[in-house]
Amino acid sequence: MKVGILGGGQLGRMLLQEAPNYPVETWVMEKEADCPAAHLCHHFIAGDIRDFEAVYTFGQQVDVLTIEIENVNIEALEKLEAEGKKIIPRPSALKTIKNKILQKKYYQDHQIPSPAFVITQNREELKQHMHLLPAVHKLGMGGYDGKGVQVIRSEADVEKGFDAPGVLEQLVDINKEIAITVAIAADGSHVLYPAVEMIFDPVLNLLDFQLCPADIPQQALWKAEAMALAVARNFQSPGLFAVEMFVDKKGDVWVNETAPRVHNSGHHTIEAHYSSQFDMLWRVMLNYPLGSTAALQPSMMINILGAEGHRGPARYEGLEEVLKMEHAFVHLYGKKQTAPGRKMGHVTLLDKDKTGLLRKAMQVKQTLRVIS
Ligand code: ADP
Repeated sequence: MKVGILGGGQLGRMLLQEAPNYPVETWVMEKEADCPAAHLCHHFIAGDIRDFEAVYTFGQQVDVLTIEIENVNIEALEKLEAEGKKIIPRPSALKTIKNKILQKKYYQDHQIPSPAFVITQNREELKQHMHLLPAVHKLGMGGYDGKGVQVIRSEADVEKGFDAPGVLEQLVDINKEIAITVAIAADGSHVLYPAVEMIFDPVLNLLDFQLCPADIPQQALWKAEAMALAVARNFQSPGLFAVEMFVDKKGDVWVNETAPRVHNSGHHTIEAHYSSQFDMLWRVMLNYPLGSTAALQPSMMINILGAEGHRGPARYEGLEEVLKMEHAFVHLYGKKQTAPGRKMGHVTLLDKDKTGLLRKAMQVKQTLRVIS
């Protein structure tokens, strides 16, 4: 079976690392020939995933097509699907998710709790909604990694808002940010991974830590699981859906956004769960039974980011020490150049409980540095 992946970033790379377990020929398309996934696939095609012709031609060469980033040409995928190509997730799901306005309407249409919102076409329109502050302004198209999100607390902040179509969303009094990944097979069967929790602790500066299982009350977990499942199932598409949610101070749960693909919040599943999110996506794409999402042990994931003040060829300080730690698994993404804050890799830690994980996580944080 020929499987094409649109995008050659770190997610594509990790997906390809699981490919040898399956009878599959892998194809990747990405502009940059030295991208993280380029040398792990059977066929690398240099091309722009946002370009109609490039995506259409690429799609014609494979049996199944998937994405590792949303920023792809949807029209080409729609045409390929109309011609019978299997695309995971379906272009209709991708189209909804790619545009925050459509995504918010989707939650509303399916009665899935998500922060209340109004649509704004430009900054002038935003100014008419100052009575809704404090709120969060989100860019409709093209925002990622927090770049399309601005908190508007008062009228003085309005210039920070986007002068393009977007949504103004109610500010949630967040207690925890969590995510649940749902896998849906072609026959409609599904499995859920345990919830993960993003840990934000300004005192310990634990900004890029993620804990599994999430430490939240059982009631909130049940709500979150039901909501994640509703989000995923209503797309009526096979695939993996990472549903990001907020648990507020009252214990209510709100959907923030969804990624219809393998996701940063599932990196830990490689070592900490029987079937990783990457293994799971191969199963979905190749029509095999879904795997087990159960955890072997609690885990913590830490992003390895480029250190402040370092730009240029990457060097990994403290790598040996981290590799010596018990149940510490290092993943480097093969990016040659580092820059402040650039995602260069991640470390997954396994331990019997949260205390042990936090101790190890602090050790990694203090030891490993990406410098130039
Ligand atoms: P991106 O897709 O760029 O990651 P998100 O929509 O996830 O953007 O928002 C980034 C961050 O902004 C979230 O992780 C959360 O901390 C904060 N945020 C987003 N929406 C809200 C909201 N309605 N209320 C409070 N905080 C929010």
